[in-house]
Amino acid sequence: MSVHKTFLVQYAIVIEVPTEPTEAALEAELRFRNQLNDAITHVFRNQPNYLGLQTERVTLINESSSTGQCAKCRLWITNAESPSILDGLCRGVCINDQWYCEDHQPRKNRRKRT
Ligand SMILES: [Zn+2]
Repeated sequence: MSVHKTFLVQYAIVIEVPTEPTEAALEAELRFRNQLNDAITHVFRNQPNYLGLQTERVTLINESSSTGQCAKCRLWITNAESPSILDGLCRGVCINDQWYCEDHQPRKNRRKRT
């Protein structure tokens, strides 16, 4: 008897599209989403362990108390200390109105790795 474990594997990408005109912005967003869907399907469709693309979620990201861009590398990050973490973004911190990803945060704020 074969026993299996089933995993949900999630990746997140961040895209940036122009806000105007609205139709062009929607078109650009849809193009990214379709390309990602096609790429995943193309890469995994013949793998016996691949059970299908499950969900797609699009979330508008804006500068807020829980998200921002790293001052050094521009990576979008979410506040690791906030109760409203945006799942899918890397963790970071906001210090004096500047955001820092885990690789670029000031040394005294870095977590010790175990
Ligand atoms: Zn960074």
